[in-house]
Amino acid sequence: MGINKQQYQNILNELDGKATLVAVSKTKPAEDILELYNLGQKDFGENYVQELTQKYEQLPKDIRWHFIGHLQSNKVKYIAPFVHLIHGVDSFNLLKEINKQAAKNNRVIDCLLQIHIATEETKFGLDSNELETIIHSGISDLKNIQICGLMGMASFSDNMNLVRSEFKNLKALFDMSAPAFNIQQSTFNILSMGMSADYKIALEEGSNMIRIGSLLFGSRTYNK
Ligand SMILES: *Cc1c(COP(=O)(O)O)cnc(C)c1O
Repeated sequence: MGINKQQYQNILNELDGKATLVAVSKTKPAEDILELYNLGQKDFGENYVQELTQKYEQLPKDIRWHFIGHLQSNKVKYIAPFVHLIHGVDSFNLLKEINKQAAKNNRVIDCLLQIHIATEETKFGLDSNELETIIHSGISDLKNIQICGLMGMASFSDNMNLVRSEFKNLKALFDMSAPAFNIQQSTFNILSMGMSADYKIALEEGSNMIRIGSLLFGSRTYNK
């Protein structure tokens, strides 16, 4: 219970304004979020739609809510009115649904495409061919979404050389995407990579958005 203020300060000092910290508050109570909010934190990340909408109702309206989980098309409508950034988009159909719900809410929703960088089979995401296919499948017709960059999760591994090489691959793909796929560079500028166990490596490899849960809020009692 309660947040680790010292750890929060340490991370902010390390970031030194060069990357955005998304505080991942899944499974944690609203009081913990408010405690961090009162220290100035505005970006929070959640993985589950129902949990996110409940917290949105309860908490200050200037919080920027990041959806970082695997989003199902039929649930987009619940978060479309307020979500700040959707990190885990991995299909064109999902993009179309986000576009449709964003239009209903008269807004443009910012999205990151999730790239599969881990050697594990379990993680979601696109490979570079699928990325190209999505980008060439007519996203410029989707006026109510903006593709702002890429997101990825490294292998859950103690092998930091492996983790580093996965982040390197993602950074390389991020750097070549805008010119290769004719995306406007100025709006394609977010590279979301790095979690509690590997954020230092992610920052060294060029991340500009890290997603930190357990270091700030303590370990979660169940793994979601
Ligand atoms: C849970 C989660 C995080 C935060 O994980 P920690 O190891 O607790 O920092 C970051 N990104 C995603 C996609 C997550 O699901």
